[in-house]
Amino acid sequence: MKYDLLIKHGRVVTEKGAVHADLGVKNGKIVSICSAIDGKQAKKMIDATGQYVLPGFIDPHVHLNDPGMTNSEDFYTGTCAAAAGGVTTVLEHPLTFPLPDNLKAFNNKKEIGESKAVIHFGLFGACSAENEKEMEKMIETGAIAFKTFLTYSPEIPMLNDGQIVDRMAFLSKHDIVLAIHCENNDIVEFYSKKMQDAGHVQPEDYPQGRPEISELEAVSRMCLFAHKTGCKMNVAHCTLEEAVQVVHHYKQLGADISVETCPHYLILHQDMMKELGVFSICNPPLRTEEEVEKLWNCIFDGKIDWICSDHATYTVEEKMAGKDNAFKAPAGVTSVETCFPLFFSEGVVKRGLSIEDFTALSSTNAAKRYRLYPHKGRIAEGADADVTILDPKIQWVIDDQKLKQMIKWSPYNGRKVTGKVMKTIVGGVEVYDGENIVTARGTGRYLTPVEEEIK
Ligand SMILES: [Zn+2]
Repeated sequence: MKYDLLIKHGRVVTEKGAVHADLGVKNGKIVSICSAIDGKQAKKMIDATGQYVLPGFIDPHVHLNDPGMTNSEDFYTGTCAAAAGGVTTVLEHPLTFPLPDNLKAFNNKKEIGESKAVIHFGLFGACSAENEKEMEKMIETGAIAFKTFLTYSPEIPMLNDGQIVDRMAFLSKHDIVLAIHCENNDIVEFYSKKMQDAGHVQPEDYPQGRPEISELEAVSRMCLFAHKTGCKMNVAHCTLEEAVQVVHHYKQLGADISVETCPHYLILHQDMMKELGVFSICNPPLRTEEEVEKLWNCIFDGKIDWICSDHATYTVEEKMAGKDNAFKAPAGVTSVETCFPLFFSEGVVKRGLSIEDFTALSSTNAAKRYRLYPHKGRIAEGADADVTILDPKIQWVIDDQKLKQMIKWSPYNGRKVTGKVMKTIVGGVEVYDGENIVTARGTGRYLTPVEEEIK
């Protein structure tokens, strides 16, 4: 047989634009894109009439809680949920126990991922106060990037400015990204306390405890540091148009900076927090409806590099720690399964984003930034056969109980979505058939940054 898999009659989104074509797959690679391939030449065929054939979505910011917090998610449930959302690669952030700020914990996490994941995954290492030597070892073993925090988080140490500058200078010698959670800790601590002291502890009070200026100042400071040290930096989960403009300014000056945002900052806003309660608590917090629209303008202006879920789940009981005081709720929302369908529905269907821009923001740009490209992030002959088939017309309603994540809550229950993932194919193998996960745990592969050019 010439092909293991043939995807026929789809609208294939290539780097040169969308074309009607058939896609031939052999040994896990895309080997042929042409107008009419004979179905008899393939072991298996998928009819994608009326559907988009896209490079598999890449979610470069997820928390799968494994090891250490597997009461709320693990590598199996988290990657099953991702696959059901069309994601073929996740990049997992280092907020797990033991903290992967050293080679031993990093390798332990890698082995856990290899034994459970159903899609491909790469791992971020953690920066901690004194782990420069360990960072070197993690880079050698294939860490995709590193992560650090400027505000207090229970899962990962925050670094001071001196440590950040020093770490940026170190990483600038390596071709690897440092992703930063940007909020000013002093401002956050002061206003969170002030709100609580005044008895303003409802979910809708929460954003005022972490005001916009705390994010804007931190993004500005980190951009300056990255510019001066030459570090490749990514501004994690940005919520503000003004912060995106700061990033853009530094990019114009030649700084190597990227900026991402998430569906919750593009769809949810502060006025919804009363109804959503503790399940809308995340850091940075939700902003105003006006700010949401401004962030969409940044998407259309090409100033945001990609979309990610920042999937971060807790048990319902853990979230309910904030029922009498929202500041006590653990911060994070779940959306690894709904991230890209929501972005398609709100971006492409509702606001008219082009399918090419959608593809760049859901796959190609992150693949390039984290050095998974050219194997991943594109539909092209020679690229890995990581493919998502999406029907742009099907309307469906998010039902939390049907999500494949371990704990069945999200801030999107009952929301109507136009555009449904019909198949998720990883390395030429169908992982999700539109309803169920159809591969075994442990079939996902650990990814390291690409060193060589594609043949
Ligand atoms: Zn995160």
